[in-house]
Amino acid sequence: MADTPHETGAILSIGDELAIGQSLDTNARWLASRLTDLGVRVVEHATVADDLDRHVAALRRLTTGPDAVDLVVSTGGLGPTADDLTRDALARLLDEPLVQDAPAAASLRRWFAGRAMPERNLVQAQRPPSAACLANPNGTAPGLRVRAGGADVFCLPGPPREMQPMFEAEVVPRVRRAPGVQVATRVIPTFGLGESDVAARLGDLMDRDRESRGLPLVGTTASNGVVSIRIRH
Ligand code: ATP
Ligand code: MG
Repeated sequence: MADTPHETGAILSIGDELAIGQSLDTNARWLASRLTDLGVRVVEHATVADDLDRHVAALRRLTTGPDAVDLVVSTGGLGPTADDLTRDALARLLDEPLVQDAPAAASLRRWFAGRAMPERNLVQAQRPPSAACLANPNGTAPGLRVRAGGADVFCLPGPPREMQPMFEAEVVPRVRRAPGVQVATRVIPTFGLGESDVAARLGDLMDRDRESRGLPLVGTTASNGVVSIRIRH
């Protein structure tokens, strides 16, 4: 990995069930909140169906050109079935073939120790040659890590109980904070005021360019009848 800081980040969630509204994307929320804690400014959440062309297009957009970020974390699409397309999408993005990762194949066989492993599961040990596999102690699908365009890309599994420990073990130690960046977030609930009243009282504290001037960013959120002020530095 190049050693420029991970100033900006994006989350890429993969799956038909998310795109059509069948299940809620709790991974994106969890990942965005962890990356924010780590000092990465998360600027986009993207969700794509299990569609190879759209998956590649989303990866391309987030890694090159005006929408590119420094760090992309994707979730889902690493399983063994035909609708699990993350490996193929990376191969297409990088214009590389898929090769088998011997240690990942061996660890899959160990996972199935004693039981017959469906041959199909071996596709999970495939990766583009320039990618590295990330160990998955809680499931069968290894994650993947690769450099693409200007971005470091981490592809994690969909199930939260596999995704979260892999994030902590494989992504957190590799996140490079921009020099001087410290993140502290404070949420202050208010009482008896509408959101626009709160905003009027905050005045130019809510200017959107404060972050680029090195000042804390202030925003408001109305939820369940409570207007909260969020201060992030
Ligand atoms: P698997 O090996 O289980 O197929 P996978 O990496 O292919 O893993 P998916 O097939 O995309 O992941 O999702 C598997 C399951 O993980 C989903 O059925 C869902 O329960 C959960 N899951 C996937 N994505 C998310 C998400 N963004 N937020 C919350 N749960 C998710
Ligand atoms: Mg799957």
